Amino acid sequence: MSSISIRGVRKAFKGHEALKAIDLEVRDQEFCVLLGPSGCGKTTLMRIVAGLETETEGEVLIGGRSMKGLAPRHRNIAMVFQNYAVFPHMTIGENIGFGLRMRKTPPAQLQEQVRRAAALMHIEPLLERYAGQLSGGQRQRVAVARALAVQPDVLLMDEPLSNLDALLRLEMRSELKGLLRELGTTTIYVTHDQTEALGMADRIAVMHGGRIVQFDVPEQVYRMPATRFVGSFIGNPPMNFIANPEAQAALGCEPRAGLILGIRPEDLRPVPEGGLVLQARVVEMLGASQQLTARVGDDLLRVSLPALPAITTGQTLRLLAAPGAARWYDPEGNLCP
Ligand code: ATP
Repeated sequence: MSSISIRGVRKAFKGHEALKAIDLEVRDQEFCVLLGPSGCGKTTLMRIVAGLETETEGEVLIGGRSMKGLAPRHRNIAMVFQNYAVFPHMTIGENIGFGLRMRKTPPAQLQEQVRRAAALMHIEPLLERYAGQLSGGQRQRVAVARALAVQPDVLLMDEPLSNLDALLRLEMRSELKGLLRELGTTTIYVTHDQTEALGMADRIAVMHGGRIVQFDVPEQVYRMPATRFVGSFIGNPPMNFIANPEAQAALGCEPRAGLILGIRPEDLRPVPEGGLVLQARVVEMLGASQQLTARVGDDLLRVSLPALPAITTGQTLRLLAAPGAARWYDPEGNLCP
């Protein structure tokens, strides 16, 4: 069993509170994504789980065992961090096999695990090359392969695909997720890319200002953002927020005193009559869909529609909210039942 329990963890750097009472229970074999903007504390939390940083308060348990005072090498975890340290004087093969040699893995098994990890990261042809000769993206893949090769029970990854081009990144994403599921590895994966989080995670922990503001399955985080921040951060384009009661009513959402309406851009539907009347200001054609923006008083409204029929700039539209799509937020930005 390799669950990870983070209990009441707080971290202060010289008076600056980077983490404020974090509680997180990652289940055995779960793929948990930490998602949040730059500076929200993702890396600090990972470094504490890894034992590279000491918590100011609270504790971390792995497999039910407290990690208090345990050095990283005694925590039985593998990690891929942003500053992936690949040894330049070793070949790629030696780099990937490093952890296995430390664990005195028999040579035949070592070869097989190195080959498999290299194949997965598409670097098999590079095994004999020296790491010093590689590009940033290649080095990053070596670092991921080295962590995978030991087939760890617990894997911590901080933006492991950030240096890859878009297409390779997309491919690696699904291969990585598939392999970790097959191996049953408990994973914490840090990213600030919401698409990556939605696509890969069993559950997403959304972080904001040193706290976890929502921890749930991707569908729920997307459909029921716990705060306005989550609704804005997840989803492209982000959720719309409409304060004007008349506009809320025109969209078919009964206004609620003092509350702000939150509605996803794809949940606004054109209707032949009635609805909220507005003018398309900017129309962007995105292939399968088109996105348009319009002004509703002081609020900017974003709408996603199928590509056809094509909307033109300046065209008048009538919109209604899809049934059940309205979410309501209080002035502090919290979701109301
Ligand atoms: P990014 O996505 O940019 O890597 P992050 O979410 O991983 O951001 P952290 O690196 O965990 O954020 O940083 C959280 C906060 O703690 C930031 O305000 C950062 O400046 C601060 N911080 C991190 N490490 C230290 C340190 N060693 N000393 C002082 N402050 C630090």
